[in-house]
Amino acid sequence: MREKNDGPKPTRRQFLTGVGAATAASTLRPGEARAGVPDLKTRGATETTTVCPFCGVGCGQVAYTKNGELIHVEGDPLHPISEGTLCSKGAALSQVSNNERRLKQVLYRAPGSSKFEPRSWEWAFERIAERVKETRDATFQRTSGKRKVNRTQAIACLGGSALDNEECYLLVKLMRALGITYIEHQARI
Ligand code: SF4
Repeated sequence: MREKNDGPKPTRRQFLTGVGAATAASTLRPGEARAGVPDLKTRGATETTTVCPFCGVGCGQVAYTKNGELIHVEGDPLHPISEGTLCSKGAALSQVSNNERRLKQVLYRAPGSSKFEPRSWEWAFERIAERVKETRDATFQRTSGKRKVNRTQAIACLGGSALDNEECYLLVKLMRALGITYIEHQARI
């Protein structure tokens, strides 16, 4: 229940004086009106346009960085698809970058092991290349019945919506060249 206000009521003169002060404040010049208002955190930051990595809608974003740190992300008003809008997930994107739980190195769990071990990116790339070669060599199929197929069905490729058109083009070219037929995209699953 709202509390009853028993305080003293203003006189007519006090009321009109208050209205006059409020009117004067609202007619301040822009510089004066801004005095005391905190500065924008994005002032002086570098603006970089990018695409939201979370889903296939591909909304446009503006990433603000200062001193190498991502400080803010907002919708890109010039993007032809999303026109400045983002859903709550896309609007919270900076929390993915600025997150103490974010993985910043390769973690490898060997077959049969119960624990992850840190590895270098170079080690991971070499290992992936070796495993792709071994698997492809062991499973490559030249024909199926009377048809030539030149494929392996033992490897699959899963793309993500953070990939742009050019990256998708190169990725699919590489997969087709290897004879990989199972090519999917995270946004369709
Ligand atoms: S902002 Fe939301 S709708 Fe747009 S791409 Fe990101 S996750 Fe998808």
